[in-house]
Amino acid sequence: MAFAITPPPQATVPVVGGDPFPVRRIYCVGRNYAAHAREMGHDPDREPPFFFMKPADAVTMDGSAIDYPPATSDLHHEIELVVALSKGGVNIPEDQALDHVFGYTVGLDMTRRDLQGEAKEKGRPWDTGKGFDNGAPMGALRTVADVGHPSDARIWVDVNGEGRQEGNINQMIWNVPETIAYLSGLFELCPGDLIMTGTPEGVAAVGPGDRLEGGVEGIATLSISYNSKS
Ligand code: MN
Repeated sequence: MAFAITPPPQATVPVVGGDPFPVRRIYCVGRNYAAHAREMGHDPDREPPFFFMKPADAVTMDGSAIDYPPATSDLHHEIELVVALSKGGVNIPEDQALDHVFGYTVGLDMTRRDLQGEAKEKGRPWDTGKGFDNGAPMGALRTVADVGHPSDARIWVDVNGEGRQEGNINQMIWNVPETIAYLSGLFELCPGDLIMTGTPEGVAAVGPGDRLEGGVEGIATLSISYNSKS
């Protein structure tokens, strides 16, 4: 097929022992761990799940050294379990939701907290705070055949070798089947969609020159660094 311009490359995430996973959309769940909701000033018990998106090409590979993003002086890490879908649908019942999962990895929902804070204050969209270039570093995917469906696993991120965030995915307010079911009532989910499932407490800022290493135990690890400003 001919295109008016050279088509942009397909965003992908590597798969352990297989071909790369093509990314269609990246959905993100907000405030899905009670202690993180509290640290952001919200009551975790009264809110249904809510979602925002990052562009597919915000994915950054494990092992990358990336430039510190522009227009922020408060770039936060949010370490999250990532779910990759191999099947889509609408109004997917909770008890069938896991049949739609291809596999799992760990990701960072990097956040320009200053821009997000300004957007919240002014009632504006979160895109500049969340949907920026290289804003979704990801580890390699592990297939369901390989690791099953994790529901109890340590999740953590260290910055320059010091512990920053530490939790367990069993602390999620909305678990993976509930999240898929709810999200599929808002959007038609498709193969290639990724869902970032929210972060435990301990979000904090990183700066140029910092190295981030995180993981979900038994699933995946992730290491990225921000280039020093020259
Ligand atoms: Mn997040």
